[in-house]
Amino acid sequence: METQPKTFTDRDALINHVRALSPSLSPDDVSVSDTRGGRQAGQNLLGKIDPIAYGHSRNYLGGAVSYLSPYIRHGIISLNEVRNFALEAAPEDEPIRPIEKFVQELAWRDFWQRVYQQNPDWIWQDVETYKTGFAPDDYSDTLPDDIETAQTDCAAINHFITSLKTTGYLHNHARMYLAAYIVHWRRVKWQAGAHFFLAHLLDGDPASNNLSFQWVASTFSNKPYFFNLENLQKFAHPQAPCAEADNLALAGSYDQLAARLFPYGVSS
Ligand SMILES: Cc1cc2nc3c(=O)[nH]c(=O)nc-3n(C[C@H](O)[C@H](O)[C@H](O)COP(=O)(O)OP(=O)(O)OC[C@H]3O[C@@H](n4cnc5c(N)ncnc54)[C@H](O)[C@@H]3O)c2cc1C
Repeated sequence: METQPKTFTDRDALINHVRALSPSLSPDDVSVSDTRGGRQAGQNLLGKIDPIAYGHSRNYLGGAVSYLSPYIRHGIISLNEVRNFALEAAPEDEPIRPIEKFVQELAWRDFWQRVYQQNPDWIWQDVETYKTGFAPDDYSDTLPDDIETAQTDCAAINHFITSLKTTGYLHNHARMYLAAYIVHWRRVKWQAGAHFFLAHLLDGDPASNNLSFQWVASTFSNKPYFFNLENLQKFAHPQAPCAEADNLALAGSYDQLAARLFPYGVSS
């Protein structure tokens, strides 16, 4: 196997080298993420984490999330290191509760890794049946073109797809929205959605990604995850275009959407 160079005069030289490795891709098809590689970049972000603010704001797309996932995923920063950093950020008189949520999320990563290790088959196979009233064959095997190209009829969804493809990152809540849209609104197999995410995420990880997709789909949980426009407007605005006129398919109460998305009823 050809050994790749590890040092470059500057970032442009690195980008040009990587582009040259895939000559069939046109420059229009390739976006360069702002995320910087390497231990120093990871440590800089680690120094900026705010686990207390995280606890109050993590569900908001503009919340105090860490952006550490690519570094954790590729072994540049360890989970233990992040946990210890968070513990140091806790107030002396209340060392656990204010940072609990942040440490719990780190634990989710560890949990998915352990599930993967013990059940490698669960990464691409349905762990359980869908609880959506539909059978696996009712779902499409392939991702529709309008999702691939960010041209669905929902502006917020298009925004998430474009962010995923151009930055290699999505906030956790945006991942949940987009995964739910793919599986439940468009009735596409979670595996096709998981492939799409893994192709673009800089933190793309079979355990965290695919098992989260199975959780959204309901093949690894007791009910499907879905959302409505009101929820999106609360947590995603102003990071995503959330006007009702531009997102009609997402509008309605949870009962109305459940009747539309799962007409045969949700089982558990
Ligand atoms: C459909 C879907 C696909 C996902 N795919 C991936 C993936 O490929 N790779 C990946 O690392 N994570 C994945 N996640 C989990 C989570 O969305 C990301 O880890 C998180 O958004 C990364 O951003 P951050 O570093 O700013 O996270 P923060 O919110 O700042 O969290 C800090 C760290 O905790 C861990 N973490 C946080 N939330 C979760 C979670 N729900 N599950 C597992 N670990 C978590 C991550 O290592 C993260 O870097 C996925 C979630 C969903 C719903």
